[in-house]
Amino acid sequence: MVERLARLDIRRVEDLLFHLPAQYQDRSRIVPIGALRPGEAVTIQGEILLTEIKYGRRRMLLSRLSDGTGAITLRFFNFSRMQQQNLAAGAWLRCFGEVRKGPATLEMVHPEYQHVDSGAPLPGGGHLTPIYPATEGLRQLTLRGLVSQALDLLQDTASPSGLAELLPEDVLRRYAMPPLAEAVAYLHRPPLDADVRALREGRHPMQKRLVFEELLAHQLSLRLLRRRKQRQTAPPLDAPGRLREALLAQLPFALTGAQQRVIAELCADMARDTPMQRLVQGDVGSGKTLVAAAAVLQAVESGFQAAIMAPTELLAEQHHVNFRAWFDPLGIEVAWLAGKAKGRARRTALEAIGDGRARVVVGTHALFQDEVEFAAPGLVVVDEQHRFGVHQRLALREKGRQEGRFPHQLIMTATPIPRTLMMSAYADLDSSVIDELPPGRRPVTTVVVSERRRDDVLQRVRHACGEGRQAYWVCTLIEESDTLQCQAAEETARLLAEALPGLSVALVHGRLRAEEKARVMTAFKAGEIDLLVATTVIEVGVDVPNASLMIIENAERLGLAQLHQLRGRVGRGSARSTCVLMYRPPLSQRGRERLAALRETNDGFEIARRDLELRGPGEVLGTRQAGALQFRVADVLRDQALLPHVAETARWLMAHHPGLAKPLVRRWLGQRTRYTAV
Ligand code: ADP
Ligand code: MG
Repeated sequence: MVERLARLDIRRVEDLLFHLPAQYQDRSRIVPIGALRPGEAVTIQGEILLTEIKYGRRRMLLSRLSDGTGAITLRFFNFSRMQQQNLAAGAWLRCFGEVRKGPATLEMVHPEYQHVDSGAPLPGGGHLTPIYPATEGLRQLTLRGLVSQALDLLQDTASPSGLAELLPEDVLRRYAMPPLAEAVAYLHRPPLDADVRALREGRHPMQKRLVFEELLAHQLSLRLLRRRKQRQTAPPLDAPGRLREALLAQLPFALTGAQQRVIAELCADMARDTPMQRLVQGDVGSGKTLVAAAAVLQAVESGFQAAIMAPTELLAEQHHVNFRAWFDPLGIEVAWLAGKAKGRARRTALEAIGDGRARVVVGTHALFQDEVEFAAPGLVVVDEQHRFGVHQRLALREKGRQEGRFPHQLIMTATPIPRTLMMSAYADLDSSVIDELPPGRRPVTTVVVSERRRDDVLQRVRHACGEGRQAYWVCTLIEESDTLQCQAAEETARLLAEALPGLSVALVHGRLRAEEKARVMTAFKAGEIDLLVATTVIEVGVDVPNASLMIIENAERLGLAQLHQLRGRVGRGSARSTCVLMYRPPLSQRGRERLAALRETNDGFEIARRDLELRGPGEVLGTRQAGALQFRVADVLRDQALLPHVAETARWLMAHHPGLAKPLVRRWLGQRTRYTAV
C-alpha cells in the first residue's frame, strides 16, 4: 500500500490531502433510466430483469436493469461466479457509472453498484463524491477512505497532522482567500450545490487557494536558491573595458542600443563580488553572440578565464570560429574542447586551460569533465540553455569554483521565453532582453507549401542559387533514431544533387566527424556550396548571411519555436529571404493554424507565446527545464494570471516573514528540492 501510494507521490498526510479529486460526481440524485443520455455519469436504481453470459471476442456478463421508465445494459468483462449470482434476475441495484451508447441500447461498463432495498439512504453523505486520480491496485474506495481519515485528523485541531496555516492573515485578506484547511476540506467534500464546472476547469476559488500556495512555494524555493548564491563570493571583473573597445573598433558595424544596454547590465553585475546569475534572451539574430563576447572580454581583461558551453558540437564549433576571428587579432588564445577532441589536441587544450594560457575555452558539456581544470575561472557562459538542465548549469558553475569563489554566470536562450515561464522557471535569475534587431534586416517571407509541389520548390532553389545566393534544405524526421535521420538526410541530398545538376550540394548531420562538419560549414560560409542539406543540427547558431532561402521538410512535425529558430538562419544578409515550410498532406486544422502563425509573424516573443499555448511548457522549455515545473495542483498555463501576484507575494514574504519560506517549500516540494541544494 505504501508503495502504491508512493507511486502517486503520496508519502505524508499532507500529500494525501493535496491529492485532489480529478472529478466530482453527484450521487445524491437518482436519475430515471428513461431520461439518460450518453456521456453522463449518474446514479440509477432498478431491478434486474435478466443476467447472462455472452461469448463475443471476450467472455462477458450482461445484465438488464429496469426502473419502469426504461432499461439499460450493465456490461462486465471481468466477473466472478459470485458476482454472477448476485446479479440474478429480481435483485434491486443502485449503480453508478458513465452512460454509453452500446451496440443495441444504452449501457454502463463496469459500474460501481450496491444492492438496495428500495428504501436505503442515498450514498454520498450530503456532498459531491470525489473521484481521485488512482493507480493500479489502489481503488477509489480505498483512496476515499484514506482521505476521509486525513480530513478527520484535519478537523482535530489538536492533532499535529493538521494543516497549519502558513500564509499570513495579510496575504489571505489581500487576495480574499480562505484558510488552507478550509479549502482542502471543501475540495475533497464539496457541497452538492458546488460549481462543478468551475471545479472541473480548475478555476474554483478553493482550488486557486491551493494553486497560489504551491506556486508561491516554488517561487520561494528559487528565491532561497538565489539568496544562497548571493551570499557566495565571486571575483570582481571590473577592468575598464579596453579589450571591448578594441573588439568593437574592428567590427564593420556598431552595436544596437539593446546590445549596449545589455552589455552594460552584464558588466555591472560582473564588477561585483557576488556571482552574476543573468539570463539573456533575445530573438534569433539579435546578436547574442557578440554580447557574450563582450562579457568574455571583461573577464579576460580582468585577468580571468571564461568558458563558453554550447549544447551541440556544431554550435560550439561555430562559436569557436567566431571567437577566434574576433579574439586572435587581440592576441587572446581560445581553446577548444568537445567530446570528440582526442589525443594530442585534447592534451594540449587541457594544458592550456590548466596553466592559464588559454583565456577563453569553447566547448560542449565536455567542459565539465573531471580532467578539466581551470587556472583562473571568472565567467561561465551557457549558450542555448534550453538544451541543458538546471543540474548541468549548476554543475559547470561548481566546476569553476575556486578557493570558495564562484564564477559569474551568463545564460543565453536560443529563443524568447514567454513571461509566464520566465516568472516560474527562472525566478532564481536576473534577466536581460535584447529587444532590437540589427538594422537593415528584412523580415523573412514565410510560405507554406504542400510537398506535392516539390517541383516548384526545386525551381525556387535553382533560381536563388542562380542569382548567387545560397540555400538550406532541412530534413526533419520524427524518428527517434539518429541513424535513420542521418540516412534520410543522405538520401535527400543524393536526390537533390540529381534533381539540381550544376549546383553544388553538400550534407551536414549529427553523425559526421567534427572535422568533416567544420569543413562543410567553412565551405558553405565561403560560398563554395550552393545548397546545404542538413538535419536539425543547424537549428542553433549557424550564421551564413549569404544564405537567403530555407526549405524545411515536414515542417508540421516541429514546434513553432524550433521552426522560428531554424528560419532565423536566413534573413541575416541584405537580400530578401524566404522560408518554405513544406508539409505532407493532409494537414490537420491545428497543424494549419500552427504553420499560419509562423507565416503571420516574425516576432519570436509572439511565437513563443503561441507555442506555449499550443504545446505547453514542456515543449517550450525543453523537458529537462520543465521537470522543475511539475506541480501537484498548479498548471502554469491555466494559472498564469496568478503569477504576478505570486511573485509579488514571494518578494514580500522574503522581506517580512523570511522564516515562512522554508516550511512552505518543504510542504509543497518535499523531497523534490534536491536541485536547489546543488
Ligand atoms: P543570435 O542572437 O541568434 O545568436 P548572432 O549572435 O548569431 O544572433 O548574430 C547574428 C548575426 O548578426 C551575426 O552575423 C552577427 O555578426 C550580426 N550582428 C550582431 N550584432 C550586430 C549589429 N549590431 N549590427 C549588425 N550585425 C550584427
Ligand atoms: Mg546564437
